[in-house]
Amino acid sequence: MVSAIHGRLARRGLVAVACLGVTVSCVEGEELSAQDDDTGVGVAPLVDDLADVPVLEPAVGDRGEKVARAYAYLKQYGYFPNPALERLPGWKPVLDHEPEDPEVFDEVLAEAVARFQEAHGLVVDGTLNAETQRLMAAPRCGIPDDYAQPRPLKGTSQFAPSGSTWGSNEVLYRFRNFSADLSQDDIRAVVAEAFARWGAVTDLLFYEDDDADIEISFGAGNHGDNWPFDGQGGVLAHAWPPGSGILGDVHFDEAETWTLGGGDGVVDLRSVALHEIGHALGLDHSDDEEAVMYAFYDEPKPNLRLDDVIGIQSLYGDRLTLSYSAWGPIPGKHCISVAEHADPYAWDDNYFCSDKDIGAQWSMSGPIEGMRCTQVVEPADPHTWSDNYLCVPTHSKWFFHWRYDGPDRGNRCVQWHEFADPDTWDDNFLCSTLLPWPW
Ligand SMILES: [Zn+2]
Ligand SMILES: [Zn+2]
Repeated sequence: MVSAIHGRLARRGLVAVACLGVTVSCVEGEELSAQDDDTGVGVAPLVDDLADVPVLEPAVGDRGEKVARAYAYLKQYGYFPNPALERLPGWKPVLDHEPEDPEVFDEVLAEAVARFQEAHGLVVDGTLNAETQRLMAAPRCGIPDDYAQPRPLKGTSQFAPSGSTWGSNEVLYRFRNFSADLSQDDIRAVVAEAFARWGAVTDLLFYEDDDADIEISFGAGNHGDNWPFDGQGGVLAHAWPPGSGILGDVHFDEAETWTLGGGDGVVDLRSVALHEIGHALGLDHSDDEEAVMYAFYDEPKPNLRLDDVIGIQSLYGDRLTLSYSAWGPIPGKHCISVAEHADPYAWDDNYFCSDKDIGAQWSMSGPIEGMRCTQVVEPADPHTWSDNYLCVPTHSKWFFHWRYDGPDRGNRCVQWHEFADPDTWDDNFLCSTLLPWPW
C-alpha cells in the first residue's frame, strides 16, 4: 500500500528523492535551505523532480547534510525535544533525548526514523531508505506525529486522540480571512461541508458565529502564531487542538494553491480542511494511509474513512437521533410511552423514540431511584405535569435537558406536542447534550 501512494506521488511529480548528501549525484534544483527562525521549526520542503534518482542510504556512523536534514525534519515533527512544540497542549516528544551530534546518524536517530516509519505505516527498519526519504519529502500537515503518547487504543485503531475535546456538542467557528485562490462563497461552503462530515457521525453541531471557538485563516510564512509556514509544498496547514484562545484554530498556508479538487502542484482545500478540523476537534494523526487523519497529502480525500469515524466517536460518542410521536410508537425505533394519566387530553398515545436503545424509562410519579432523570413539565398545564420524568441509566453517555420555551439552538432537540391538549404544548422540547469523553 505504501508503494501505491509513492507511485502516485512520483507520477505527479510531488515527491522527489531527497537530494541532500554530497555523495549523491543530483540534478541542480532550487536551493533547499532550512528556514532560519527562532522557533526551531521550519525545514524546507524537499520537493523536486528527482523521483528516479537512486538514493544512497546513510547508515549508522555516517554523517553529512542528508543526516542533518533528517534530524531537522524529525525534530520539526516531534520526534525529539523541541521547545517550539511545547506550546501544544499535551504534546510530548516521541523520544526524550537527542542524538549526540545531529550530523551523525547514530542509534538515537535510527530509533527516531523507526518511530517515523511506524507512525506512517512504512516498513520499520530504522534506515533512511528510499521510501522513508520520499515520504519525508511529501506535502503534509504541520502537526507533529504521535502527538500524545502512548496511543490509547493501539492495536484496535490507528487514530490517536490528542487528549483534549470541546466540552459542548455545539462548536462555533469563524473566518478571519480567506484565500485569494477561491471565492469566499466556495471557501465557506467547503469548510461548512467539512464540519458537516464530522457532525454526521457524532452528536456535534457546528455554526459559523462571530463569537467562535475555532478561527479559520490563511497566512504565509510567519502568520502570527510563531509557527511559520514554509512556502509552497512541505507543510500545507496546521491546527491547534481544542481549547481557548488560539487553541482550536485552523491555519492554511496561503503559499499553496488552493483548489476544489486538487491536481498537479495544487492542493484540494476540501481534503485539507477535513483533516485540519479533525485536529481542531482533538484527533491526532493516523498511521492508516487511507484515513483522512493520515499526515501526508497525496490526492484528494474528501470523505471520512472508518478509522476517522472510530476516532471521532471515541472522543464524542456516536450520533443519537431522537423522535417523538403523538400517534403511537414509531416502527423500527426504540419508543417509550410518555403519558400523564391525570391529563384528560389524549396523552395515551404519545411516545418518545430514539434510533438506539438508550435504556430510557418514563415516570409519572417523580424521579426513578438509581437513574439519571430529567423533569418534563409544562408550567401552564394544570393537569399535574409536575412529577413527570424521563430517566436514563446513571452511567448512560446520553444527557438530556428539557425546555418549555422553545428549543436550544440547533436541531438535536425534539418537540413534544399533544395537539389535542389546549394547554400550550407548542414550545416544549427535549434536547440532548454531549458531555466530554470519558463520560
Ligand atoms: Zn495533521
Ligand atoms: Zn499557524
